[in-house]
Amino acid sequence: MTRTIPIAKAPAEQVSSTTLEGDGMGCHAGGETLLAAAKQAGKSEVLAQYAKDYPRNENAGPHDQPQSMCPAFGSLRVGLRMKRTATILSGSACCVYGLTFTSHFYGARRSVGYVPFNSETLVTGKLFEDIREAVHAQADPEKLDALVIINLCVPTASGVPLQLLPKEINGVRIIGIDVPGFGVPTHAEAKDVLAGAMLRYARQEVLSGPVAAPQGGRKALPSVALLGEMFPADPIGIAQLLAPMGLTAGPVVPTREWRELYAALDCVSVAAIHPFYTACVREFEAAGRSVVGSAPVGLEGTQDWLQNIGQASGIAQEKIDVARNQALQAMQGLMMAKPIQGRITLSGYEGSELLVGRLLVECGADVRYVGTACPATPWNQHDAAWLAAKGVQVQFRASLEQDLAAMHEYQPDLAIGTTPVVQKAKEACVPSLYFTNLISARPLMGVAGAGSLIQVVQAAIGNQNRFDRMKSFFGGTGAGHATGVWQSVPVDRPEFRAETKRQLERLQKKRKAEEMG
Ligand code: SF4
Repeated sequence: MTRTIPIAKAPAEQVSSTTLEGDGMGCHAGGETLLAAAKQAGKSEVLAQYAKDYPRNENAGPHDQPQSMCPAFGSLRVGLRMKRTATILSGSACCVYGLTFTSHFYGARRSVGYVPFNSETLVTGKLFEDIREAVHAQADPEKLDALVIINLCVPTASGVPLQLLPKEINGVRIIGIDVPGFGVPTHAEAKDVLAGAMLRYARQEVLSGPVAAPQGGRKALPSVALLGEMFPADPIGIAQLLAPMGLTAGPVVPTREWRELYAALDCVSVAAIHPFYTACVREFEAAGRSVVGSAPVGLEGTQDWLQNIGQASGIAQEKIDVARNQALQAMQGLMMAKPIQGRITLSGYEGSELLVGRLLVECGADVRYVGTACPATPWNQHDAAWLAAKGVQVQFRASLEQDLAAMHEYQPDLAIGTTPVVQKAKEACVPSLYFTNLISARPLMGVAGAGSLIQVVQAAIGNQNRFDRMKSFFGGTGAGHATGVWQSVPVDRPEFRAETKRQLERLQKKRKAEEMG
């Protein structure tokens, strides 16, 4: 008689870390499974904090939320851009490959450390010992101020306890953070995870005694710390706007070196230029600093921002008025010219999308849609309300599908967006600009911001003729499955695609039914 071994289904709550062994789990394993595993493995507290700091729609399906690159890239980049700071990744080899590739693509010019693991080291706890060993080996005070260790998806889900690492080795600060894709929605917010952890560390140092002054010494004037990476000329422009109030621009957080963290905490107020730095804001508020949202973009934006920053910094109204009038004079002529003519849709994942939207509207553009991968926070509410009052549709946590739907709906003369949006726009013969490379990489604040944006946007809209010429030239080479020059044009087989789709749906339903038992 044939005997079969009965397979008993494990109860859903008993998610074992061994189910997460090895590579290949993560992005494709389903966030729910990893989230449940991480909570069971002792990461409930950190994940609950992430859920509060970086809220997302619980009911959103995979296509109803922003499609981010691996979020850990945000933290990795912050670490790699800091002087005398080394970063070690702990995660699946495929994730680490992708992250190091991307960081070198963006010019990291520095090695990324990696502690590999296998099923055995993961489930026996040896991985943590390996990480501890690596940290001790790397913590050289001659070379480093800080050493950052980032747990990626699988080690986080398996509960690798970075919090048990020593806080400091030979004077080198050790910062261990969990940055799983299933807990931190976008790479923008992952920047906040590391920057917030560093500020927390630096604040504790300040509380425990005197700390080193910044390299160039303390600023002569009270400073406003700037939250969010920006074009290098922007802090200079902001300092000019603040000068009549007797204020200056403080360090930009994430900072470029450890001592700047102290200088940032030493500010009179904080400008949350990018609105998603929730953990950093928590640290600044714990240090007693007021935080002001939005930024000095466009005429109205600059006027509002100077008023709010002046008030938050305890500046007398007469001085605030002097600063506002100076900005008004400098910008009025430029803005009054309102030279941008055309309809624009805009989307991105940098966090400055609403600011760019405001600036474009003030420059005369007919902006219909602003999509951002970032969530609504207290620091972008004012910008969102301002845009809505001008008839602009604002979409937080925008998915690619929503960005594309907006482009189809509003038929813009220019689509500013992420790579896939720009790709679709080009296909549709619509002039387009990459948000990250072409908009984020130029000044946005004050007079310089308005002048520079007007120029690039006008030039892009003016490209419509070139697109039309290209279309008439290449138009005959086909589209979709028939793109290219063929001896015999491929025949489309929509029925094959439909059949594959049907089979995949059936498989999915079957799996769901099995899960429900
Ligand atoms: S670490 Fe990044 S690449 Fe790896 S599974 Fe998580 S989200 Fe995906």
